[in-house]
Amino acid sequence: MAINLQTPIDYLKGVGSSRADLLRKELGIFTYQDLMHLFPNRYIDRTQYYKINQLQRNNADVQVIGKIVSFTEVGQKRGKRLVAKFQDGTGTMELVWFRGHKWIKDSLKLNTPYVAFGKTNWFNGTFSMAHPELELLAEHEKNLRSAMQPVYPSTEKLSNRGISNRVISKIIQQLFIDANGKFDETLSESLRKELHLIGKSEALFNIHFPKSPELLAKAQFRLKFEELFYIQLQLIIKNLMHKSKIKGLPFEHIGEHFKTFFEEHLPFELTNAQKRVLKEIRSDLGSNAQMNRLLQGDVGSGKTIVALMSMLMAIDNGFQACLMAPTEILSIQHYNGLLDLCKNLKINIKLLTGSTKTSERNKILETLKNGELNIIIGTHALLEDRVEFNNLGLAIIDEQHRFGVAQRSKLWRKGPDAGGAIPPHILVMTATPIPRTLAMSVYGDLDISIIDELPAGRKPIKTVHRYDKNRLNVFRFVKDEIAKGRQIYIVYPLIQESEKMDYKDLMDGYESIARDFPMPDYQISIVHGKMKPADKDYEMQRFIKGETQIMVATTVIEVGVNVPNASVMIIESAERFGLSQLHQLRGRVGRGAEQSYCILMTGHKLSSDSKTRLETMVKTSDGFEIAEVDLKLRGPGDLMGTQQSGVLNLKIADIVKDKDVLHHARYHAKKILNEDPKLAKQEHAVILDTYRKLSKFKNIWNYIS
Ligand code: ADP
Ligand code: MG
Repeated sequence: MAINLQTPIDYLKGVGSSRADLLRKELGIFTYQDLMHLFPNRYIDRTQYYKINQLQRNNADVQVIGKIVSFTEVGQKRGKRLVAKFQDGTGTMELVWFRGHKWIKDSLKLNTPYVAFGKTNWFNGTFSMAHPELELLAEHEKNLRSAMQPVYPSTEKLSNRGISNRVISKIIQQLFIDANGKFDETLSESLRKELHLIGKSEALFNIHFPKSPELLAKAQFRLKFEELFYIQLQLIIKNLMHKSKIKGLPFEHIGEHFKTFFEEHLPFELTNAQKRVLKEIRSDLGSNAQMNRLLQGDVGSGKTIVALMSMLMAIDNGFQACLMAPTEILSIQHYNGLLDLCKNLKINIKLLTGSTKTSERNKILETLKNGELNIIIGTHALLEDRVEFNNLGLAIIDEQHRFGVAQRSKLWRKGPDAGGAIPPHILVMTATPIPRTLAMSVYGDLDISIIDELPAGRKPIKTVHRYDKNRLNVFRFVKDEIAKGRQIYIVYPLIQESEKMDYKDLMDGYESIARDFPMPDYQISIVHGKMKPADKDYEMQRFIKGETQIMVATTVIEVGVNVPNASVMIIESAERFGLSQLHQLRGRVGRGAEQSYCILMTGHKLSSDSKTRLETMVKTSDGFEIAEVDLKLRGPGDLMGTQQSGVLNLKIADIVKDKDVLHHARYHAKKILNEDPKLAKQEHAVILDTYRKLSKFKNIWNYIS
């Protein structure tokens, strides 16, 4: 019989209550299972022993056999350290401790062979090793030891309290002894066969005590696959349950508005990607389940027209639709854009924002409630309680990363069934692409559509990196562009922590630009976060109408603004922006027929990450490619949505590095659920069982944390 992995670690021989407390607090290890899944961060070759005269000045981890011949205490007070002279036949080195002097002196033996393990430092003509791991040579030879020595995650507290890497390794060894090396299999035989995966027990053994690099690699693959497989399985099951449980409003037919628009008023040929995405949406809307879809598309890929045509489907089926945008400027733009697109259709569209006048607002709310209004566009104002629909069938959220889950769910309850049992269909749109692999893991509850193609005939934006000292040239170029009738953005960073500094930078910049581009030849708009919304709007509108040629701004213009005549985007201190932000900003130009430019201005000193970001921007304009680089630079922690999804709590797999394993895992999870949605087949019993245990376990964790 296998041991019960839910046993609290206190019961394991060699742990005891004080160590158990530390393991719980420091590493979150509560049970045998947690311990089993404490995977090493890396491995060190411990078959190799160094002589002191062979040591290199490279700070490597090494092990040396020798004897301590003396102890001395050096330094004063805080800087006090204990130094041991450590010798082998070839030379002398120093072992150094900054803490725990008494305990160390008492417990170590002089003139007895030890194996010292740690990082070497070269200082003042001597090698030294700080806080080495020491083991009596006699003990060392007795221990179970593999060529690849695991290095476990640790904390300062743990190592100060004597729970060294070796102790952890020993505890895990004890667990293997108790379990007789046998652990329950958690993947089906057919999966193991098909993917040539080694068994669970063998994998666990080799991850902790690798017999060879080959077996270690196999163990890692098997365990990574398993981890990602069960995450995917959970996500897909959640999505399937959503579809079977949450009823949708059936939009059964394609009607007059859609047809007329499609056949007579479409201002351009749709791209293939737009057509494909519309089909996906149509098929959701026509099914009996609620649509809950994320539409990802790069800046300028044409999401708005997809949104409009989806709303026409709603109207044709007797429902209302709404489109919510994160800022007033954006909603005004959407409103004007949609009015224009729909000018030949008989539909009623209105705009509602925080600054809509009371009398106007009351009229809008009334027609919304009695059903005269077909489409309402607006900001957060749409979420207010007094905004009541007659029969909201489709809610679209633009730039969804600006909104939280709570806001999405508020829209749910605005459907015709106030209880929310039959919610409106939901489409969220984002122009901050995240890599597909990550999207799969993060947005488990959403279906994903991707527009991966730009409308034909777009001229690629020319992007260059220039240093501050080239400013004169840049300004000369800007003047030429303005002379041709173009408009220019100049953007300054806005980073919360140093808001004052940012503001000063912006104002200094504005003054110097005003000097270089003097009135009356040049008109300049300025927009920043400290302005009142009405003033901001006024300045934006001046620029949109072409009354000013230069827009000096902080990143408030980042998202969505559409001024097709603007052809140059200058980003100041570009090294201070993140990649996705740079990409968003660049997307503000290149919207018209003219050649557009993006100029990234920086100082001379650049970190290597900044350099990579700038080079990436110059090299590519593909939002998905940029997102991949961003993910590599920043890790998934900073990307939206990752916090909720648990991709950060992976124990062994790495969402970035193990992309291929993730694809396999998703593919097989899907395939199995396709064949056997309830996991009822005998061959899937082990998967069902593991899945259940994992779900139960997860709930417990949510409860605790
Ligand atoms: P985004 O996806 O960034 O919201 P928009 O919907 O604002 O992009 O579209 C960007 C511009 O491209 C708009 O001016 C729009 O009219 C135009 N556009 C959209 N689809 C097409 C197409 N298939 N062919 C030509 N132009 C298009
Ligand atoms: Mg848009």
